[in-house]
Parts: sequence; structure tokens; C-alpha cells
Amino acid sequence: MRTGSNAGSTNTHTGSSKDGFSRHNSGSGSGHIYIVGIGPGKKEFISDRARQCITTSQVVVGYKAYIDLITDLTADDQRVISSGMTREVERCQQVINLAAAGKTVSLVSSGDPGIYGMAGILYQMLDKADADIGVEVVPGITAANAAAASLGAPLMHDFACISLSDLLTPWSTIIKRVEMAARGDFVIALYNPKSKKRVKQIEEVRQLLLTVVSPDTPVGIVRNAKREGEEVTLSNLKEFTHHEIDMFTTVIIGNSQTYVAGKQMITPRGYRV
Ligand code: SAH
Repeated sequence: MRTGSNAGSTNTHTGSSKDGFSRHNSGSGSGHIYIVGIGPGKKEFISDRARQCITTSQVVVGYKAYIDLITDLTADDQRVISSGMTREVERCQQVINLAAAGKTVSLVSSGDPGIYGMAGILYQMLDKADADIGVEVVPGITAANAAAASLGAPLMHDFACISLSDLLTPWSTIIKRVEMAARGDFVIALYNPKSKKRVKQIEEVRQLLLTVVSPDTPVGIVRNAKREGEEVTLSNLKEFTHHEIDMFTTVIIGNSQTYVAGKQMITPRGYRV
């Protein structure tokens, strides 16, 4: 596996995409993989590099909902492969196979691909595969950044991101991390807080936190941050689970200094103002 943004730069270029970037040609024998973070959803939050990688790839692969967010970046002469949510391993294998056959492939992730995204699994699988494939991870704005921006400035001090999804991580590990983060007075950004099947976890987290921090601790709930249909709700630890929380939501729990001023959630950093 080759790494770095210059890997694969020997590919010849043909065709031109909607954005005017030229598309890599196949046939060199060694392909290239871009693991692209497309940010929270709205077009203006995608980086230029991410656009460039997507528009110059011959194949674009990703979960259907993410592919739908970038339809304006893909063109008719590109192969676009969208798949279901839980098919990460298959999706990665498909990407590796395509790149091993000489293709330039973009694997798209929402937010940042290195934060609960596809970068880790792809690198793990490439580590096992003996293929000469260039890889570049293209960072994106992660949900915590997007949600924080819509709430004000809640992540101004040390914070922990914790995913409540126990599909791949034991619940005992997750709940221990929540407790330790709260004991360390970290602001906590909760990813994957609640799904249709996973409804009890967020309530268990709330109960646990109530044994450690004040019930008045501010909690910000942002649904669809920086994408269509954004909803921002300010609440507190006592009652935040009464509000709608789902898999499109990031929950930010303040630290002992976090406060609400008007519509903003603010975690001070110690400046005297
Ligand atoms: N790689 C992604 C995170 C994937 S985990 C990133 O860096 O953002 C999926 C979880 O991220 C969702 O369940 C939700 O908690 C959060 N999320 C992703 N996009 C979001 C958005 N636009 N608004 C609020 N939360 C979001």
C-alpha cells in the first residue's frame, strides 16, 4: 500500500467532469483509493480536495444516503456504486478489487472518514491485501464540529466523542468511557445516540451522568446539522431525552462550566471577559 497525496500521480488523465477536473484513466495496473469525507451534508461544507477526488475518480462508492448527497459531483461517465448501511466490509473489498484492477476509486463517508467512518476498516483490509494501491484520506467536517457550530461554542474546552452504537463495541466499554469522560469533566459529544432498535442506551447514559454531574448541565441536541432540515434544541441533563433523538442527531453534553446564553451553548476557556 502506498500512502500520501502524491501516490498514484502517474495515472494519465482523460475526460472532464462537471467541475472541470480531469478524470484518471485506468490501465496502469496500480489503482488509487481516496477515502473521502464529504462533511455533514450541505454542499458548501465539502472541501475542494474532496470535490476534486470525487470528480476525478472513475468509480465512486458509498452508502446510498451519502451518494445521494453528492449527485451533483458525479457524472455519467463515472461508475457510481451505492450500497446498504451494514455492508462496510463488502464495500471495502469491492473498492480494493477495483483499485487493484487499476481504477481510481473514491470511497465516500459522511463527515470525516476517520471518525466512525470507513478509513480504519479500509486500511485494516489493505494491510492484509498485498496490493500496490495508493491511498489518501481526505478529511471532512465531522458531526461534532457541525453540531457545535450550530449550537454556539460548546467544544471550546477538552471534549470526548463517544459513539453509543454497541454493534461493534461492547456496551460495558461504552458506558465506562462515558463515566470516565464525565468524571474528567470533559464535554461529551455523543454520536449514534439512538436508533429505532437501540432506544435504551441514551436513557442509561443520562441516568449514569446524573450520578456524576449536575442535572442542570446544558445539553445541545442537533439533528441534521449543516444539512437540509437542521433542528437545534437546547436542554439539560434532567430532561434532554424527552426531545427527539435519532441516528441523524448529535448530542453535546456540557462540562461543569458550560452555560446557555440566549440561543447559544458556551463552554468558557478561562478568558476574563
Ligand atoms: N463519520 C461521521 C460519523 C459517522 S457515525 C462524521 O464524522 O460525522 C454516524 C453518526 O454521526 C450519526 O448517528 C449522528 O450521531 C452523527 N451525524 C452524522 N452526520 C450528522 C449531522 N449532519 N447532524 C447530526 N449528527 C450527525
